Amino acid sequence: MNGRVYLVGAGPGDPGLMSVRSLELIAIADAIFYDRLIPPGALAGARPDAELVYVGKQPGVPSVPQEEIGQRLVEAGREGKSVVRLKGGDPFVFGRGGEEGEALREAGVEFEVVPGITAGVAATAYAGIPVTHRDDASAVAFVTGHEDPEKPESALDWEALARFPGTLVFYMGVKRLAENAAALIEAGRDPEEPAAAIERGTMAGQRTVEATLGTIAEAVDREQVKAPALIVVGQVARRREQLGWLERRPLHGRRVVVTRARAQASGLARTLRELGADVVELPAIRIEPRTDSQEVRDAMTRLGDYSLLCLTSPNGVRLLFEAMQEAGQDARALAGATVAAIGPGTARALAERGIVADVIPERFVAEALVEALAEVEVEGKQVLVARAAEARDVLPDALRERGAKVDVVPLYESEVDRAQEADYVTFTSSSTVTNLLEALGDRFPKNARIVSIGPVTSETARAAGLEVAVEAGEHDINGLLDALLADAS
Ligand code: SAH
Repeated sequence: MNGRVYLVGAGPGDPGLMSVRSLELIAIADAIFYDRLIPPGALAGARPDAELVYVGKQPGVPSVPQEEIGQRLVEAGREGKSVVRLKGGDPFVFGRGGEEGEALREAGVEFEVVPGITAGVAATAYAGIPVTHRDDASAVAFVTGHEDPEKPESALDWEALARFPGTLVFYMGVKRLAENAAALIEAGRDPEEPAAAIERGTMAGQRTVEATLGTIAEAVDREQVKAPALIVVGQVARRREQLGWLERRPLHGRRVVVTRARAQASGLARTLRELGADVVELPAIRIEPRTDSQEVRDAMTRLGDYSLLCLTSPNGVRLLFEAMQEAGQDARALAGATVAAIGPGTARALAERGIVADVIPERFVAEALVEALAEVEVEGKQVLVARAAEARDVLPDALRERGAKVDVVPLYESEVDRAQEADYVTFTSSSTVTNLLEALGDRFPKNARIVSIGPVTSETARAAGLEVAVEAGEHDINGLLDALLADAS
């Protein structure tokens, strides 16, 4: 029996704006084909054995052609799978969901469309710009600014847009902004009309630049606004003065590290987010593929040199094969290597790709894999460890000790990378100090100010060689928040 393909909108970026239906489908999917512009952690609820396939664009890498995506969805559907095609915003608003639906219908594969909150209403709302307003705008138009170089030019009717009695919202509008604004003015739209650019709307780094139609291109250039960004042209843009809310929050634009795993800490994370902070919770559970890094690409050119290959998760296996495919390699590149899998799920993922693992430990932890590898000759040999960027170094260290030359290839990154740029690290107890140090190893953020809940915690931090910048006056979560806010203001 055929499966079903779900064309699912993941919303504009804030994970809280994903629909209940989208989360439900992600949780049951056999396979998820996803784009770059999906919210952080959107795939966290996927089944551990779900196939996660990245089909978005990567700078400098030719993207998977649209027909091929359609084809892969059709194939997966025909295999009887439940397939989620996850896209940023809404799948039918500049999302090419229509084309995918057509390909599926043509092939007789059943589909369902799950709308998402489109950036045109979400980023604007988060910027405090109502796209319609009784006094200002009775209509709104979503327009493509055609920043996508792959799209053939389809000339917009600038006369009609200039006359349009309402708000114009341009998607993909940054690159061609100067030409587009000039064309609108040329066609008769008032250069004094309020305008705004909203960068990374609804996300932690949201930024809004205000100007007029006549000056917006220059402002965007000066402020170096980058995609994803929307351009809004209309009287409603000036309502932001009254209605802006997100960017006014006291910790907006600040990144704060919180140690996960205690009920108390998650309450802290929530409150910090409510105050506008970009919160990094560690140790993390978020998985973010990053098969496009130089490290990974380099390793893919040397696959034949490795005599031992260690895989520490089913996701790692999938991403390794994706990276291999992108590099024009196939399973034969691994022909000479001994392959070790950390557990049966990883071994299964390998088996699905025609590779039988040589080594599988009884317990699924790095230490057990180290033991299981005791018999394998590694001295002077090249070893590839493919895993999450934040994983502990137990395995590579043990192999190096035995004289192996180990390449650790991080196939997916997590919050550790984001933590590097943190403005604050919070410690709510001595154990959070030790846990965080273990999670981060030598990658403790260099420039973050450390906020401690009280003298005992501060002492533990200092003993670990950290400098405490702020200590709470009241030794509880509220006291810590007050101290952080005072320091940030
Ligand atoms: N299907 C998506 C749009 C995809 S086109 C949707 O419904 O939202 C990609 C363009 O959408 C970007 O170039 C940008 O103009 C806009 N966009 C997507 N997410 C955005 C965000 N978080 N903030 C601002 N603009 C965004």
